[in-house]
Amino acid sequence: MARAVLFGIPVSPGIAIGTVRFMHDMRQSEERHIPSEEIPQEQIALRAAAAGVRTALAQTMRNVPEELAEYRDVIAAQMELARDPKLLNAALARIERKGICAAWALDLTIEELCELFRGMDDPYLRDRAQDIRAVGLRIRECLAGVLPREADKGPSLLVAEDLSPADVMELDLKGVLGILTVEGGPTSHTAILSRGLRIPALVGITGLLETANENEPAIVDGLSGRVLLGPDAADLAHYTARRDEYSRWVQQTRRNACWPAEMCDGVRVRAQANLESPDELPGFAESGADGVGLYRTEFAYLKGELPTEEELFREYAAVVAKAAPQRVVFRTLDVGADKMLRSQASLKEPNPALGLRGIRFCLRHQGIFRTQLRALLRAGVAGNAALLLPMISGLGEVQSVRRILRELHEELQAQNLAHATGLPLGVMIETPAAVLICDVLARECDFLSIGTNDLIHYLMAIDRNNRHVAYLNEPLHPAVMRSLKRIIDAGHREGIGVSVCGELAADPCGLAILLGMGVDAVSAAPCFVPGIKHMIRQLRASTCQELAHSILMSTDVQTCRHMVREKLHQSLGPELAFHTTSLLGQSQP
Ligand code: PEP
Ligand code: MG
Repeated sequence: MARAVLFGIPVSPGIAIGTVRFMHDMRQSEERHIPSEEIPQEQIALRAAAAGVRTALAQTMRNVPEELAEYRDVIAAQMELARDPKLLNAALARIERKGICAAWALDLTIEELCELFRGMDDPYLRDRAQDIRAVGLRIRECLAGVLPREADKGPSLLVAEDLSPADVMELDLKGVLGILTVEGGPTSHTAILSRGLRIPALVGITGLLETANENEPAIVDGLSGRVLLGPDAADLAHYTARRDEYSRWVQQTRRNACWPAEMCDGVRVRAQANLESPDELPGFAESGADGVGLYRTEFAYLKGELPTEEELFREYAAVVAKAAPQRVVFRTLDVGADKMLRSQASLKEPNPALGLRGIRFCLRHQGIFRTQLRALLRAGVAGNAALLLPMISGLGEVQSVRRILRELHEELQAQNLAHATGLPLGVMIETPAAVLICDVLARECDFLSIGTNDLIHYLMAIDRNNRHVAYLNEPLHPAVMRSLKRIIDAGHREGIGVSVCGELAADPCGLAILLGMGVDAVSAAPCFVPGIKHMIRQLRASTCQELAHSILMSTDVQTCRHMVREKLHQSLGPELAFHTTSLLGQSQP
């Protein structure tokens, strides 16, 4: 039996066996009272450490490759923090006021600032706590004279409170087999990076830093979300066999990635990819995806300055051309809630998740929206593109967008600029209002796409940042299941396709139920697409339909979980364990 078993959120699948290596020096800082004559020397040491961190970050900034240019802004923000008087002066004053050493004064100041930022309503400002902590750690290491980590210490499992973009840039990831962090969610830097590099990773592991020991053997199970610290011989033998089996399975699914997603009884669906930037295009090409089901366009806007029409046009045209003849569904700007523009942060909305986000923001700030739509219409001539509107809650929003599109068409025509006309227009179903009028929306649109991540939150009335109500994030809840069925049926009655682009589509249980409800397409991060297609080929549409029917008849979540587990075991056998699922709970083998 392992010395300790911890649980986290699996964000990148796979199994890794190695030794724990802390990204940062997590030893408790020195807590020392000092005589008054030592005060100037501690203050000098702190100033020098902050300057050292600024220089190191400037060097890191120069090494950021062009494809990761968005990381430069985060590194620049950290450089600013390393010279911020609020941080530095407060720590310097504390040394003097309390007569304590620099490291202790710094820790107290960082803690105080983080507490202040963490308590803020605004998610943009709340996220700054992460940067303050990252900079604080660096200054602390510099003060303690800790040298940068060596790259090749053998196969290691990287343990950190969080990984900032600057950490990622400085790290040689060659020897890293697994990544474990305390902070972070499915869309954090850690998640995106580890998926891109195919390194198994878990985030949100409570108690990790206190429980893990440097150089201790450990196992990361990025399929079930477990980390085993100090495993025994039996654990090692079991997980070595599972790792090898899993890697053979992955090879096989990748080899067959271009085969169609057709069920055993001949029903075909489309398995598409979700992309967030053109950097992901190589992964998309290898994934065998039937087009891009969701291209999130926010990232170009989160760098500080608004992108120009030309910049957006180049980005979108490159993606459309690369994916052609497959379709790319571009979701128009979905800022607000967890992705705030700096100008929005200053609005200080009391509840941004219920505020000016998605289409509401775009219709209020039409200058920004029109620039994006012009770029999209122009990029449309490079291949096969479609438009998708986020956070729709009424028909009027769709009609307004159609009117703007007509105006832009006339404008572009008058300017003699080549552009696509009649691009398919779809809406995301993410709000309870959209569920209840999905028949009306279906008549006005060319397709529907269900954003289950937000839909579940809004249906269940839970704040996605509030862990006290995280237990209500329950996709098998009858309200969620009935909504999904209602949307799919409404789309089909109006003769249009319905796809699902939220995380539920990548979960084997969610996928089987959605297939049973008759969904036409699913989309997920490229790394999941080969496995999704493979699973679809192992299922029968009739089995999935029976399952969906039974689930819809039941009002008890536990019974549903049991039913779906049984059906999937029958259809997939032991391969079920190779799919990442949160729906089966921790009891999954
Ligand atoms: C969703 O809400 O399910 C979705 C796909 O959108 P995002 O995760 O980008 O909010
Ligand atoms: Mg959403």
